[in-house]
Amino acid sequence: MEKVGAWAITEPNSGSDAFGGMQATARKAGDEYVVNGSKTFITNGPYADTIVFYCKLDDGSDPRDREILTFVLDRGMPGLEQSRPLRKMGLHSSPTGELFLNDVRVGPDRLLSGGSGGGRESAKQNFVTERAGVAAMALGVIEECLRLSVEYAKARELWGQRIGDFQLIQLKLAKMEVARLNVQNLVFRHVEMQRTGRTPTLAEASAMKLYAAQAANEVAMEAVQLFGGNGYMSEYRVEQLARDAKSFQIYAGTDEIQVTHIARDLLSR
Ligand SMILES: Cc1cc2nc3c(=O)[nH]c(=O)nc-3n(C[C@H](O)[C@H](O)[C@H](O)COP(=O)(O)OP(=O)(O)OC[C@H]3O[C@@H](n4cnc5c(N)ncnc54)[C@H](O)[C@@H]3O)c2cc1C
Repeated sequence: MEKVGAWAITEPNSGSDAFGGMQATARKAGDEYVVNGSKTFITNGPYADTIVFYCKLDDGSDPRDREILTFVLDRGMPGLEQSRPLRKMGLHSSPTGELFLNDVRVGPDRLLSGGSGGGRESAKQNFVTERAGVAAMALGVIEECLRLSVEYAKARELWGQRIGDFQLIQLKLAKMEVARLNVQNLVFRHVEMQRTGRTPTLAEASAMKLYAAQAANEVAMEAVQLFGGNGYMSEYRVEQLARDAKSFQIYAGTDEIQVTHIARDLLSR
């Protein structure tokens, strides 16, 4: 059976400081846990059948030091509310929403990880996979922007010649091609690593995401520029691609957080 999944870690008061500021809690009640808290910006949140939910074990210790637990929740569980999709700038085919948990009772069989840094460790592993995935999406945006830009540069005529003959337009196309090759190389390298059973380090995955997200944004904004007024109109696809690309610099860790993760990983060796 096909199911829609969601991965819920972000909260209104704990975005980049995901674990430190996390306020969702799980309290032990006999064999069960009672889970409370709210999440926001959750991809597929509104329609998810299955949710991987991160929270902290409420054991009376300092909230910043508490153990992170991860539970598997199902749609329709008593006390679980899934919001309607939030309106957003781009990625309109990907619903994003809030989750509200009010005394949701879960058995120990729903506990995915706990102990020995389980929850934190699983999130870190997920960051690596997710960040590589963002690079692949960035490649898609770059390829499409470049394809559309070349097409437009050949078709649009001004001063009796196609705009692709102007050197400033050629520079834009050349920079897009450089970005395409670089991001493609990163993605292919990652695929090759996966094939041979190797996992990138957190620094590598974060660097890949940081570079690919920025490259996609530069390319998409330059594509809008190359299309002139048409580029700013929703009728032309580059407008949508530019809005979608902006999300790459925010979710799965912002650009600024990638910098801190790259540096922390490099400096810890
Ligand atoms: C489309 C979309 C889908 C998402 N999907 C999911 C999902 O499925 N699951 C999920 O759990 N979350 C999801 N998120 C949430 C996303 O991971 C967070 O938005 C992101 O981590 C940033 O957190 P924040 O929005 O609270 O920003 P904040 O953490 O409040 O950051 C505000 C600003 O401060 C900067 N900043 C923060 N800390 C530092 C620092 N130490 N040094 C320098 N600058 C800093 C940030 O880079 C940013 O510019 C999604 C977000 C979006 C936009």
